[in-house]
Amino acid sequence: MNHKVIIEPFRIKTVEKIKMTTEEERKELIKNAHYNTFLLTAEDVIIDLLTDSGTSAMSADQWAGILKGDESYAGARSWYKMKKAVQDVTGFEFIIPTHQGRAAEHLLYNKIGGKGKIFISNTHFDTTRANIEYSGAKAIDIPIPEGLIPEMYHPFKGNMDTEALKSTIEKYGSENIAAVIITITNNSGGGQPVSLQNVKDVSDICRKNKILYIIDSCRIAENAYFVKHREEQCKDMTYKEIALKMFSLADGTIMSAKKDALVNMGGFLALNDESIFNQLLTTLIITEGFATYGGLSGRDMEAIAIGLEEVFEHDYLHYRIRSTTYLGEKLQKMGISVISPIGGHAVYIDAKAFYPNIPVHQFPGQSLAVELYKTGGIRAVEIGSVMFGSRDEQGNFVPAKMELVRLAIPRRVYTQSHIDYVVEVFEELIKQKHLAKGYKVTWEPEFLRHFTAHFEPVG
Ligand SMILES: *Cc1c(COP(=O)(O)O)cnc(C)c1O
Repeated sequence: MNHKVIIEPFRIKTVEKIKMTTEEERKELIKNAHYNTFLLTAEDVIIDLLTDSGTSAMSADQWAGILKGDESYAGARSWYKMKKAVQDVTGFEFIIPTHQGRAAEHLLYNKIGGKGKIFISNTHFDTTRANIEYSGAKAIDIPIPEGLIPEMYHPFKGNMDTEALKSTIEKYGSENIAAVIITITNNSGGGQPVSLQNVKDVSDICRKNKILYIIDSCRIAENAYFVKHREEQCKDMTYKEIALKMFSLADGTIMSAKKDALVNMGGFLALNDESIFNQLLTTLIITEGFATYGGLSGRDMEAIAIGLEEVFEHDYLHYRIRSTTYLGEKLQKMGISVISPIGGHAVYIDAKAFYPNIPVHQFPGQSLAVELYKTGGIRAVEIGSVMFGSRDEQGNFVPAKMELVRLAIPRRVYTQSHIDYVVEVFEELIKQKHLAKGYKVTWEPEFLRHFTAHFEPVG
């Protein structure tokens, strides 16, 4: 029998209460949060789809591991367990533990970056770009053109444009390219997968030009699911084999364990180059912690080791990808424009299409995020001109390529009825479309402004 209902492949052992709020209360709460969903108190959120980062529910095995964590300063048993798990999954020899992905990014990109250096990616994630620009280097995004057309079908919309890669290397000179970073899946580009063939084509170009090639592997297991089911040459490989094959084509990887390692905190950098490794270790010890824990507790390392195993299980991955698709397809059926096909960890709504009467400089995505909260207590995040908009030399507003709102699905946290509730809230928002207002920024910091900026409705 081919079941239509995707059941969660787990039973619930511990529950966490959700505080219910009314629309009247939420109108006040979002105003007090300066209309920025990052500034809300999490308790005041009913369904929290802000991020899939660090929000996973851990398994009973992981919780058991937490108790077994070895908290020794140097050479903890939990470190060796994590190191072995990372080596098994990635195939890389040298492993640097960090408290989260961006710490690994800061270590590596600060070391190899700096003024005059260029980084090239399918799409730099926001912390990746920020770390690169903070070092003084330049970050260039070259997704395939299909990746920028929200409703266009392509099985691997996360792919990098290899022709653009060649011309970008030629333009800046290979000696000035600090690294090529392939983000798998492509988070900021819609959680879209990258094919094994593309990882290989990029690898060939990097090797020919002697350029360091890094995989941002936050969602490598989710990507492996898409590859197995969409890429003919991989249909008989296991998810783990697909991941391992991808890693074998690169020089190193950075992973935020808060995604596909199914934990709440952690990250690592893995590579084969011993001299880079040794240089980074010194900085690690100054800024994060000793080489056998980085910024992590022994129990964190224990949970990462177990999570890296669990995430590659078929029943889990099938449920994970199908349930994200379920939400996306429901919204599509209601006529809402979403990035298609649906990505792995999130559904991305085209806010420019949802609110055509709000101009991009008034942030339609921000408006949709605010309305979702007011109407349903749902927290989402704008991925558009608030996050990626900029100003040119004359100070004119330069919008982002797309105005999206991301509904990120925490791993193993919400059930189908929670998701059906989200769908219902969207039905309501469609009815109230004409009432939505644009927003203006009233305060912003220098870097990563979406986290802390303040807004006000226009008019
Ligand atoms: C989350 C994420 C990071 C940064 O990791 P943190 O653990 O949040 O610091 C880097 N790249 C991608 C693609 C991510 O999704």
